[in-house]
Amino acid sequence: SSATGTVVACQANYYQVRVPVGKHQSIYFLCTRRARLKKLGQQVVVGDEVVVEEMDWQDRRGAIATVSPRTNLLDRPPISNVDQILLIFALAEPVLEPNQLSRFLVKAESTNIPVTLCLNKRDLLAESAIEQWKTRLFHWGYEPLVISVRDDKALPTALLETLRGRVSVVAGPSGVGKSSLLNRLVPDVDARTNTVSGKLGRGRHTTRHVELFELPTGGLLADTPGFNQPDVTCNVETLMQCFPEIRQRPGHCQFNNCLHRDEPGCGIRGTWERYDYYLALLDEVLQHQQQLEHRP
Ligand code: GDP
Repeated sequence: SSATGTVVACQANYYQVRVPVGKHQSIYFLCTRRARLKKLGQQVVVGDEVVVEEMDWQDRRGAIATVSPRTNLLDRPPISNVDQILLIFALAEPVLEPNQLSRFLVKAESTNIPVTLCLNKRDLLAESAIEQWKTRLFHWGYEPLVISVRDDKALPTALLETLRGRVSVVAGPSGVGKSSLLNRLVPDVDARTNTVSGKLGRGRHTTRHVELFELPTGGLLADTPGFNQPDVTCNVETLMQCFPEIRQRPGHCQFNNCLHRDEPGCGIRGTWERYDYYLALLDEVLQHQQQLEHRP
């Protein structure tokens, strides 16, 4: 028999595939990749929609026969068909640093996948200071979800709703509460992890591989290894699209191909808080491009 499912974990040549049965249940199959796929050089990554054949429902084994076309593919870690990037930062501990936040935002925006910003540790900051951050971020073009994984008796509905029925990837620097949030959202995360780890011969805390977890409310959630200073390596055109301040202000600059740097008459130049940060990233991106061009 055969069925379609989603790859939720992989290691070496084994794939954990979630096959939905009925409306609210799913069965996990440990799968290999059919020789034909290997010959075609077809990679299989977490997030892939696949057809599983040679299914053994007793031992829950099978073989991946085809991979559906991907809507997108993130690298490091590789994961496909992502609907949303849930970017987590803390309001304090570690201190919320605007340039670091911007770097993560730009990196996330450069994937062209919708970004939801979530600010954790609300309990550590006064209400007035939180309001100031919200106003500031609103001018950047963001409306953050403000939470406290520690103190919220129930996580805000807006957060649960944005995750429902979607494939979301959690990103953000270390120490902001990503694991804590994952543990609250996926109550049996450790149980599930252990079965997968057992079958795949690995442990969640000893691996940097990505894994998708099923949410009780429907939807899948992946954590990514924490990284503090993501590189911005996109091209100039993409960079400009990564700033809502530029993207959402069409028509304010009358020039095509304007870098909004020192072009006279540019309507975007210098009129917003992150402008200097944009210039700094623009330099970084231009330098990166030059290096690529001068490579033998
Ligand atoms: P990660 O590195 O992003 O996965 O962060 P962790 O989930 O490991 O959390 C880092 C630290 O922050 C831990 O000591 C957590 O207990 C703490 N923490 C997580 N959420 C909150 C919160 O809402 N408020 C406070 N005060 N601490 C939190």
